[in-house]
Amino acid sequence: MVLRLTGVAAGYGPKTVVSDVSFALEPGQILAFLGHNGAGKTTTLKAIMGLLPLRAGEVRFDGKPLLRTGVAERVAQGLRLLPEGRGIFPDLTVEENIDVVAARNVLPGAMFGIADVYTLFPVLDERRTTRAGSMSGGQQQMLAMSLSILGTARCLLLDEPSIGLAPNLVERMFDQVRDLCRTHAMTAVLVEQNVAAAMRIADRVIIMNNGQIVFDGTPDEARAANVWHYF
Ligand code: ATP
Repeated sequence: MVLRLTGVAAGYGPKTVVSDVSFALEPGQILAFLGHNGAGKTTTLKAIMGLLPLRAGEVRFDGKPLLRTGVAERVAQGLRLLPEGRGIFPDLTVEENIDVVAARNVLPGAMFGIADVYTLFPVLDERRTTRAGSMSGGQQQMLAMSLSILGTARCLLLDEPSIGLAPNLVERMFDQVRDLCRTHAMTAVLVEQNVAAAMRIADRVIIMNNGQIVFDGTPDEARAANVWHYF
């Protein structure tokens, strides 16, 4: 298992927002991590990434507990967060965005170097000298995705990557996520409000409600269980 959560609890101040969150993912698996606004999905991603301390439970990456592993070290090990709201530098050009992150994350022998992300997203190659913040939402999201995989990404935590994208672009981007995961045995946790699009590429679906897991199964099982009332 590449990522394993066991009984994870996390929160802010006096408030514990998520509790008893457990799941394990194999290399190449895509998890659609769903639920209404405020259910605790982003909080769970922050806890996995080390941006919030655990109040209970454990996160393991490649079988090793991450308790004493800082955020930068998690990134170096291949755990990557694509935050809600894109996480790009809007005032820098496409090329500058990629160079800045590559300087930190791309070591010799890395899975994704600078040339690889331009091959993956040719439109970014055409836009190298464009200010990132002036591009379309879809192009900004491709840039954000590139920044999150540079180096050797092994597990992507994607927080609502479809926000602000036209429906046809969402399908295309999700197909690219699925291809990335299949081709490179990369694991993805996909937090989405776009339930149908996320379920289309997912191997597994987990639904959170008020900080707890209320459904865990395959997309077919989710459809059969009529889980729509959770959204
Ligand atoms: P959304 O789609 O709205 O982001 P979510 O499922 O990702 O929903 P979280 O962002 O994890 O939900 O929020 C869960 C709960 O934690 C909410 O009640 C929210 O108000 C609260 N919360 C989130 N961030 C903070 C914070 N920085 N400080 C205090 N409470 C917070």
